[in-house]
Amino acid sequence: MSKKILIIEDEPGLRLTLGDRLRSEGYEVDTASDGLEGEAKATTGSFDLILLDVMLPGKGGFDVCRDVRQHGTTTPILMLTARGQTIDKVLGLKIGADDYLTKPFETMELLARVEALLRRNASPAAASSANYSFGDVKVDVRRTEVRKGGEEISLSAKEFQLLKYFLEHRGDTLSRDVLLHEVWDYDSTPTTRTVDVHIAWLRQKLEESAKQPRWILTVHGMGYKFAEG
Ligand code: CA
Repeated sequence: MSKKILIIEDEPGLRLTLGDRLRSEGYEVDTASDGLEGEAKATTGSFDLILLDVMLPGKGGFDVCRDVRQHGTTTPILMLTARGQTIDKVLGLKIGADDYLTKPFETMELLARVEALLRRNASPAAASSANYSFGDVKVDVRRTEVRKGGEEISLSAKEFQLLKYFLEHRGDTLSRDVLLHEVWDYDSTPTTRTVDVHIAWLRQKLEESAKQPRWILTVHGMGYKFAEG
């Protein structure tokens, strides 16, 4: 059974290109050209994934996303944002989007994200048990909760995303560029220094000794890696 993808995008050219490309990958595609039509389709149709543009006539993408979620639709949503849009809003997951991509993007990048979201959603059991632990720290991804020795630790949205990315790639050496690309909106202005600062904060909150980290390790000349345990 092919997966069904809904594209909500007002730019006819992009809607067409994306639709053709996804169809050629074997997906079934439906489209909507404004926010209201998109929301109607998203809440009544059965889709496996929704690509949702932010700047839409009728009703903006953020509002559509929030209302689709309020309606109880749990289909993964990948937001398509333009340069300079407030990504924290999406990434804080306050509106219920699952991922975002900044325009202009490479088609390969889009396909990779689409596959990742579909895979993640294909195993709800795995997704709901997305809990990690290291030392006396426990991380509940679904509830964005971190506890150390039973005490709740307060992390900023970025710190949490960074930690989550590390835990999903435990043992891998991750360069600052990769972390910037994966965790930050790489079209905005953070520098690799931003990564270092957030790492320092995470270490302060989670490590016994921020100076001699046990978990978030520096790989000299390469970047960082999360110890395997
Ligand atoms: Ca648009």
